[in-house]
Parts: sequence; C-alpha cells; structure tokens
Amino acid sequence: MLNLVLFGPPGAGKGTQSQFIVEKYGILQISTGDLLRAEVAQQTKLGLEAKVFMNAGNLVPDEVLIGMVANKIDAHKDSKGFIFDGFPRTEVQAKALDEMFKERNLQISVMIALEVDNEELTKRILERGKVSGRADDQNEDLVRQRVQEYETKTRPVANYYQAQNKFQSISGIGEMQEIFANICSILDKYI
Ligand code: AMP
Repeated sequence: MLNLVLFGPPGAGKGTQSQFIVEKYGILQISTGDLLRAEVAQQTKLGLEAKVFMNAGNLVPDEVLIGMVANKIDAHKDSKGFIFDGFPRTEVQAKALDEMFKERNLQISVMIALEVDNEELTKRILERGKVSGRADDQNEDLVRQRVQEYETKTRPVANYYQAQNKFQSISGIGEMQEIFANICSILDKYI
C-alpha cells in the first residue's frame, strides 16, 4: 500500500498534484478542505460548525477533522492507498493519524512537502479565487491569515515526519509536469 501525506501551504499545488497521483497510482485522495466544503454546502451540523472557522481563515478543531478522516478511511477499506491532502495540519492530527493507522495495520509511507514562498502563494490563491468561487480564496486578508495559520500550526508537522525519517521536500515552483515527475521519482521507491 502507498500512503502519502502531501504537505505544503495553501496554494502550493497539493490539489493539482493529487489529481495526477490519483491517475497514475490509483490511490484515493482525501482532501479535508474538499470534505469540509461538502459538509458546508450540505449545511450539516459539522458543516455549520466548521464554516465559522473556515470563513475566518482559521483551522477547524482537531476532533472534527480526525473523526471525518477516520470515517473516510473506513468507507474505502479496499483502496490501494491514500493521499492525504491538507491533513494532518497540526501535530495532534498527525499523532491521531498514526493511531488510526496503527489500529488498522496501516502505515504512512512518506510525506512529500511542496515548497513555495509566501508571496507566490498569495498571488496564486487570489488568481485561483477568480475561478474557484471560494470566498476564502478571494480576500487578501483571509489568504494571509491562512498562510499565517500554516506557518504557526502546520509547518511544525514536518518535524514530526522528519523524526520518523519519512520527510521529503521538493520545489513547488515551475512546470506542473516537472513537479509531478519529481514526486513520482520519490513515490516509485515506495511501490
Ligand atoms: P484547504 O482547501 O485545504 O485550503 O482548506 C480550506 C479550509 O478548511 C482551511 O482554511 C481550514 O479552515 C479548513 N481545513 C482543511 N483541512 C483542515 C485540517 N486538516 N485541519 C483544520 N482545518 C482544516
């Protein structure tokens, strides 16, 4: 099984690269941002709770995310593997993911981080906002707040995987296909 954490700040290209990975390796993408947006759209209890945090550019509480991801994994037990896109975003989530994997006899193969500088991120997200329709992609203050959340709460998660010798980092700037080729050369070692 190939289980990948695709890591990086908002706008680094995790969603785009996840699509390429799904096509080539046939594993399932779990994007917590997409899952949350679906809950918000359906106005579920979870969605209504999450919306307040998302609209402020803040992280949604860990318990919400952990339960949601566990449900998704259990609903796809036969998958050849998983790409975690936008999760884990805190150390608490990283530990919870390890726990839920241990209980199911699974293992994270590797974390791949896409490195992109903050100015480029802001530019990319505001550009994406023109077509994505996402409110949180269209307001510069909100975009900067999300990048700030990444810097303070999420970036340290890399150390957690580094300590397990599972951390790999590549540049997220350049041609999409070139970035994908670099991802493949790492992933091919784990299949
Ligand atoms: P994304 O599409 O990954 O940029 O996520 C959009 C928003 O959903 C984020 O700004 C957070 O408010 C929330 N979110 C997504 N994934 C997580 C996570 N793993 N932990 C906490 N909040 C999350």
